[in-house]
Amino acid sequence: MALNISGTVVTALKRANRVVVITGAGISAESGIPTFRGVGGLWRTFKAEDLATPQAFARDPKLVWEWYDWRRGLCAKAEPNAAHRVVAAMERFYHQFTLVTQNVDGLHGRAGSRRMVEVHGSVWRGRCMSCGAEVALEQTPLAQLPPKHDGCGGVLRPAVVWFGENYERAVLEQTFTAAEQAQLVLVVGTSGGVSLPVDLVVQARQAGATVIEINTERSAVSRVAHERLEGKAGEILPELWRRAQLSYLADEIETRARRREGRLMVGIAGPPGAGKSALAEALVAEFRNEVVYVPMDGFHFNNARLEALGLRARKGAPETFDRLAFEMAVGELRKAAGPVKLPVYLRELHEPVPEALTVEVETPIVIVEGNYLFLWPEVQGKLDLCIYLDCDAALAREDLIARHQSGGLNALAAERKYEANDRLNRETVEATRGAAQITVRRDAAGWTVVRAAGTAGATGPLRTAAEGDMMPVP
Ligand SMILES: [Zn+2]
Repeated sequence: MALNISGTVVTALKRANRVVVITGAGISAESGIPTFRGVGGLWRTFKAEDLATPQAFARDPKLVWEWYDWRRGLCAKAEPNAAHRVVAAMERFYHQFTLVTQNVDGLHGRAGSRRMVEVHGSVWRGRCMSCGAEVALEQTPLAQLPPKHDGCGGVLRPAVVWFGENYERAVLEQTFTAAEQAQLVLVVGTSGGVSLPVDLVVQARQAGATVIEINTERSAVSRVAHERLEGKAGEILPELWRRAQLSYLADEIETRARRREGRLMVGIAGPPGAGKSALAEALVAEFRNEVVYVPMDGFHFNNARLEALGLRARKGAPETFDRLAFEMAVGELRKAAGPVKLPVYLRELHEPVPEALTVEVETPIVIVEGNYLFLWPEVQGKLDLCIYLDCDAALAREDLIARHQSGGLNALAAERKYEANDRLNRETVEATRGAAQITVRRDAAGWTVVRAAGTAGATGPLRTAAEGDMMPVP
């Protein structure tokens, strides 16, 4: 995707440890939730004073609830989009993270966000007019309007902040404290018609934070943002996150390589179907030509993949993919001459290859991946860093069995092949336990480096103390 994302923005995302994300109606508009003030916005059709004020509720609670129940129906039908998913993924990466959302639709929570402050409340909760208790209201449509509190029988009102009402004091304190401590503030899809986002951003900027706005149009936040990315959050955020995560991993690898006199062997392990090759290829692209990529897993090679790597099968090359992968690996390694001896093995050859097939390389960084490669003792001993690609194993399983089937295997054979790979893979993971580990989670939001909570290194990802990044293999 040709998005105009500057290196400054990518660097800000990968270096920050304390992050605040502020979201408004724009992020949910892409999921089909109507905005309030924009074109087609709710306040252009409905009068706020008739529906979203304490007076309106006192006058006609049933009418107000009918409107909210209709909106709850729209929210229930909507799905979180790619931007919601990236915001949820950010929680795993940053040491300190707070999501401040003006949205009441619950989509952030459904995407997986937990460290979240819903400053305007939620249509999925009710507050008792008699005893003040706040309760979950998950049923849609509601059986009774207005709904009653099971505990005391009092009438429930929507637990949202209405016109003419103030924010809860505790909520304000929490958001302003987070803004003051933030190194980076991302503002996504707010119109700025409500003053809170602007106030938070001004506070954060004064305390030294970098402010980035993502919006389809200019807003009241734009003049206080350091950088603006104009466009849909659902398109910009995933690409921005992808680039920040790859760049972070590349930094981690380079930092370690520098400590080892420029040489580092990096392995990528993970369940079959986790997308190890895709991550390896993306990382290689991040380094451009400074790394050697050794994909030894013959399964991955077909003409489309070769082309994606910018390679073509040599005329007269051996027929089988395994053989081809081997030839390619040797070819790649031979491009760099030097003192590191790296024996290369054929997948099915359970013994060292002849001396003639041993290549000497001197290269800063070698990236190896595949279910089989790490089982060879020489590679095991040389592996300095293992990137463990964690993903939903059930999902990977389905994906891979389907791929085996589209490759011509019947259902049973495809399943057997998967099981065999899975067994090998578990041995592989076992074999890489000696190396430093970085766990990368792959899900619908893309790749996210998982950093253990509470191991904050205040100096950013280029810190030399790497303990916070070394995770045990799950
Ligand atoms: Zn009550």
